[in-house]
Amino acid sequence: MELGNSKISKYFKPHNSIGREEAAAVRSVMRTGELSKFLGSIHPNFLGGKKIREFETEWENYFQVKYAISVNSATSGLIAALGAIGIEPGDEVITTPWTMSATATSIIHWCAIPIFADIDRETFCISPESIESRITSRTKAIIAVDIFGQSCDMDKIMQIARKHKLKVISDTSQAPGATYKASFAGTVADIGVYSLNYHKHIHTGEGGMVVTNDQEIAEKVRLIRNHAEAVIGSGDKEKLVNMIGYNFRMGEIEAAIGIEQLKKLKKIVNKRQESVNCLNNEISQTEGLSIPYVPNYNTHSYYVYPLRIDPAKFTTDKFAIAEKLISMGIQGVSTSYQNLHLLPIFQEKIAYGRNGFPWSITGKPINYSKGICPNAEDLQDKSYIGFYIGGFDLSVRGVKKIAQEMSLVFKSFSRSS
Ligand SMILES: *Cc1c(COP(=O)(O)O)cnc(C)c1O
Repeated sequence: MELGNSKISKYFKPHNSIGREEAAAVRSVMRTGELSKFLGSIHPNFLGGKKIREFETEWENYFQVKYAISVNSATSGLIAALGAIGIEPGDEVITTPWTMSATATSIIHWCAIPIFADIDRETFCISPESIESRITSRTKAIIAVDIFGQSCDMDKIMQIARKHKLKVISDTSQAPGATYKASFAGTVADIGVYSLNYHKHIHTGEGGMVVTNDQEIAEKVRLIRNHAEAVIGSGDKEKLVNMIGYNFRMGEIEAAIGIEQLKKLKKIVNKRQESVNCLNNEISQTEGLSIPYVPNYNTHSYYVYPLRIDPAKFTTDKFAIAEKLISMGIQGVSTSYQNLHLLPIFQEKIAYGRNGFPWSITGKPINYSKGICPNAEDLQDKSYIGFYIGGFDLSVRGVKKIAQEMSLVFKSFSRSS
């Protein structure tokens, strides 16, 4: 049988922000022959070559932060950030299960213990109330994830953090260019981390950026990025904590591409917002279907366009609805995101070796059972349907067609129509 997909499929052009500007930037680096200039020793080039420094300065200016430090991925950035704030073995770091795995595994990297707080049903971001309920004497930090393209409720999170003397890291991999009140998402926390992986709004193939307004944190991130152990001579013990250096450095070519990509960010975000206005207008009429909720303190940059259904208002479950959307030719539809606490690494508590390390450090039982994050679990099992809008460059006409098609599918399963 011929499904309706041949017509609609043509509107799903894969997102590609790489153009002539990036090609020219790469050629100009190639002509110099200097593909990296980092030195892992006390030398001006400890901070990298010309393009790295230029890219970091551009990022600082754009995001209005004192320090931007490029890295080779957001995963590396999260590891460097946790190291820089002094996370120690056995410390607890609170984060969300509704995120990409690296958010949580970066914590395990320092032999610290991820503790999962629940999310808000409407914003999909970590719930400040749930964070507070998870704080113990071992809690040292929070990783708040600006999931799907909008910021967490940062004032509330920072207030809780200050009260309990915790550091806050924003994982803003999915929300570059989104705003929280008068600031860019990622710049309100003690440290923000962005991804420049090719899935994200703007990219350098692989890459990431760490931002902070704290000079001491910035220096530590730079050290962890680039073989700290070879750079720090003696000094007091405090300075040596977590200064096991790595090679998290970005290359000059990636930096040159990043400079061009950053110039395109605003346009990409604006375009996504326009597309979402169109999607919202078409599908908001279906009873029991919730379009993305954007609190008035936020603007959303839409990495994912997340929908929520009230199963009672539909004649079938979300899996059948998604199957229908897919059969109509709509790409990028997904019924699941993440419930990280249910991954085998947490269920089996197997990370380093086979004997429960790092959880065994404290011996304290940590509960990762189903049921600890009811909102995240209900979304995963019953009510979440996502459209990966970030995967495509959609024309105005294309979005309209897609929105109409989606609307028809949801309406066809609605109990009230
Ligand atoms: C993509 C992503 C990461 C990891 O980014 P990489 O640059 O691929 O390491 C981390 N956290 C979140 C929320 C992400 O979406």
